[in-house]
Amino acid sequence: MPTITKTQTLKIDGSTGEGGGQIIRTALSLSMLTGTPIEIINIRAGRAKPGLMRQHLVCVQASQAISDAIVTGAQLGSTSFNFTPNTIQSGDYTFDIGSAGSTSLVLQTLLPALLFANTGLAAQSTVTVKGGTHNPLAPTTDFLNQAFVPALAKLGMHVNIERQKVGFAPIGGGVIKATITPFLRRANTPSFTLIERGELVNIALVASVLNLEYDICKRELASAQASLIESGIDKTLITTHSHKLQGMGEGNTCYAQVTHQVGEPSAQPYHQEVFTLLGEKRSSAENMGNRLAGLVKRYLLSTNALVDEYLTDQLLLPLALSGGGEFSARMISAHTETQAWLIEQFLPVEIQFDVVDDDKTLVKVIA
Ligand code: AMP
Repeated sequence: MPTITKTQTLKIDGSTGEGGGQIIRTALSLSMLTGTPIEIINIRAGRAKPGLMRQHLVCVQASQAISDAIVTGAQLGSTSFNFTPNTIQSGDYTFDIGSAGSTSLVLQTLLPALLFANTGLAAQSTVTVKGGTHNPLAPTTDFLNQAFVPALAKLGMHVNIERQKVGFAPIGGGVIKATITPFLRRANTPSFTLIERGELVNIALVASVLNLEYDICKRELASAQASLIESGIDKTLITTHSHKLQGMGEGNTCYAQVTHQVGEPSAQPYHQEVFTLLGEKRSSAENMGNRLAGLVKRYLLSTNALVDEYLTDQLLLPLALSGGGEFSARMISAHTETQAWLIEQFLPVEIQFDVVDDDKTLVKVIA
């Protein structure tokens, strides 16, 4: 990690750019890592219901617990708070969101800090989070396990995430447990370069139901598969999988995991992307399957970039902390721009977006 420790409070305007929860989570991660006291104002000013919601408040409380921080002004609905971190402690932690709020987003707030905690002692941490595992507008546990964690592994960051219980809104009841191994940058770690798209290796279509008719999975998979084949995608590359989930409440999700070889120059053999949909009462299984295929086709046919929208914003911080890297991105979202701006407030890094064309940008994190 670039070494920098600040003692003066950094004031962060939460209405900047995307103006969402990500500003709070990333600011907490970076405050803990750099020892910088922060004051966040105008929290989630860009959202219909501004201020701290349950998931965000648990992010603050969980960050306080792992870094022994002094916190003032953080309550449900707060539009500002102060956070002064102390030393990050590895350990075994459990946090309960108390709603169906996203367990993934709470975990992502703590991950950077625990990856770099007590590095000399190589102490593993575990983090158990209770809440939702399948939330709209957030990564699902499937996305974390099949896109985010494999990307972190390329940086030499080792995280294992086990979904112990599934939880859909509005009931929640999900549980994830992450085991985090402290990160040590090895001299022989290859540089992170994901630029050229190689051969398409596989498209795994996965549909799951929780206490709903199993037939929904079959119909989603059939329509997604048909739509992909109709657009000329080789059907031998497509595999389908369906699952009956166990847990409280009801839910349905389908996702596609798309694996490409990575072309030269790169030491990384494969890149995985995950595209996710959550079932909605007003959307038929056939419609879900078609929409899922649409997400995959947009990625396969409109661009030859490797990294899609969500992984782009989620990769910036791990890259900035581990020596930098370069990747090709299909699009630069407001989340990504805001994330780059915020990282540059804390760390001596430069994040550049070099537009190649409408559907491809080269992202360079220079640390
Ligand atoms: P915010 O809207 O500020 O709370 O941030 C939402 C975060 O969730 C961002 O890091 C997004 O990349 C991520 N995200 C939103 N939707 C998805 C999705 N469908 N798959 C994976 N990640 C997502």
